[in-house]
Amino acid sequence: MPELPDVESFKRYLDATSLHKKIKNVHVGNAKVLRGISGRRLKEALRGRSMEETSRRGKHLFAALDDGRWLTFHFGMTGRLAYFKSLDDDPEHDRLRLDFDDGYHLAFDNQRLFGRIGLIDDLDAFIASQELGPDAMDFSLDQDAFAKLMDGKQGGIKAALMDQSLLAGIGNIYADEILFQAKLHPDTRVQDLSTDALRKLYRTMRRVLRVAIDRGAGSEELVDRLPKTYLLPHREAGASCPRCKGTIKTIKTAGRTSYYCPRCQPKPRGD
Ligand SMILES: [Zn+2]
Repeated sequence: MPELPDVESFKRYLDATSLHKKIKNVHVGNAKVLRGISGRRLKEALRGRSMEETSRRGKHLFAALDDGRWLTFHFGMTGRLAYFKSLDDDPEHDRLRLDFDDGYHLAFDNQRLFGRIGLIDDLDAFIASQELGPDAMDFSLDQDAFAKLMDGKQGGIKAALMDQSLLAGIGNIYADEILFQAKLHPDTRVQDLSTDALRKLYRTMRRVLRVAIDRGAGSEELVDRLPKTYLLPHREAGASCPRCKGTIKTIKTAGRTSYYCPRCQPKPRGD
């Protein structure tokens, strides 16, 4: 599922390929991904417009149109963007395609149809309606602000990291990676972490997200490009821990399957 690093890659991809191009036509491959707008109305709204800049909050990507409105993208379980010239390269699960007047196309490729696309007038109102916390890579979110966010939070640290209303962008895969790198068990209670431990976790979180973005998150090459001590390429039961060669285990945390190393990430005391 695309998380913050993947969506940041998609944002840069859109920036590098599709800005300032006039949209000549819009092809709706499957209207199930549209939210709050019909295919016909979306076509009318986009024809003749261009995307001028992009923004991101957590796992949501936004493209500003030249009339002040915003296209919103959420990639669900399996989404990505594809830019191409020949329609022979149109992905099989193309759910929305923008045809630019220079002959190129941008497609929203979303096999499992959990993605969402919308058209909104007010970005701040949309972010408020989605109850999104600050982006996990927001430059104004420093280690003290992070520790403050977590202060008084009940429950386990993994659930807190994945709570989009607290902090936007981290899902199951990157929560596991951050906790592996921080040597914290996924069930560690937030209230048992000292302010210093939270600051350290913050620095680990930023480093993991930055490394994933820099090494090509959102592409299949990512697993080969990650540092050798990363858990992400070893997400299967019985795999060896890349740090201690112990066995990677799974547990259910907040309804999701967590991968972790019991030796590197021992259970917190008192449990
Ligand atoms: Zn280990």
